[in-house]
Amino acid sequence: MTGKVFLVGSGPGNLELLTMKAREVINSADVILYDQLPGEKVLSILPDSAEKIDVGKYGGCHTMEQVDIETLLVREAKAGKKVVRLKGGDPFVFGRGGEEMETLREHGIVVEMVPGVTSGIAVPECVGIPVTHRSWASQVTFVTGHEDPEREVSLIDWEWLAKSQGTIVIYMGAKNLQVITELLIKSGKVPETKIAVIERGFRKDQRVTCGTLADIGETATRIGVKPPAIIVIGEVVNLYRDGSEGAWAQR
Ligand code: SAH
Repeated sequence: MTGKVFLVGSGPGNLELLTMKAREVINSADVILYDQLPGEKVLSILPDSAEKIDVGKYGGCHTMEQVDIETLLVREAKAGKKVVRLKGGDPFVFGRGGEEMETLREHGIVVEMVPGVTSGIAVPECVGIPVTHRSWASQVTFVTGHEDPEREVSLIDWEWLAKSQGTIVIYMGAKNLQVITELLIKSGKVPETKIAVIERGFRKDQRVTCGTLADIGETATRIGVKPPAIIVIGEVVNLYRDGSEGAWAQR
C-alpha cells in the first residue's frame, strides 16, 4: 500500500512553537526528511524510531537538489512509509512546499499539510516589531530576497513595492541586502525608511540590527550579517526596543 507524506512546518526554531500536530506526526513517522532550517532544538527531538535523512547535505556536504528531494519523497511514500518532510517556519511560505505537493499529487500520493509559525511574522514579533499596526501599517508584503533583483525579468515588482504603504518583510535577503536597499531607493522609497535585520531568530545567538535603507547595507557588511535573517522595512521598526528580544532567545 502506498504511504503518505506530511509537509510539516516546524516554526521559527523554538520547540514551544512547534505545533502539537507537528509533534504528533513527527513522533509517528517512519522516515523524516529534514534540512538545517528548523534549528537544533527541533532537530534534537526527532525520534530514534524514524529513519532520518538530512536532505540539506545529502551524500557529503552539498545541498540535495529539489528534484532529488521530490524523487526521494515519492520513493519513500511508494514503499508504503509514513513520510515527514520537515521544513522551517511554514511549508508553504517560501518553503517549496507547493512544488512538493504538486509532484506528490502527480504520483497519486496522499499529502497532508501541517502549517507552521512562519518566521516572517514570528521573528520580528519576538523582538517587539508587529508586522501590522493600526497606526503604522495596514498592509504587509512578504517578499523573497533570494531572487537576484538585477536579473532581467524579476518576478518582483520593486517599483510597486517601493510605492506600497505598510510593512515589507523579506525572507532570504541577507546576502542581497545592499542590492535590495539600493533598488528600493532607486525605485522611489525614501532613503530614511527604517529597516531591521534579525538574524537567527529564537536562537541563542540571535542578533538585531536596525538602520535606514541608506545605511544598513554598509552596516551589514561591516558586522557580517549572515543568513538566516528576516528583514523588516517600514514604520513598525520604530517599535523595536533594544533588549526586548531577551526572553525567547534565552530559552
Ligand atoms: N518556510 C520558512 C521560510 C523558508 S525560506 C518560513 O515560513 O519561515 C528561508 C528563510 O526563512 C531564511 O533565509 C530566513 O529569511 C527565514 N528564516 C527562517 N527561520 C528563521 C529564523 N529563525 N531567524 C531568521 N530568519 C529565519
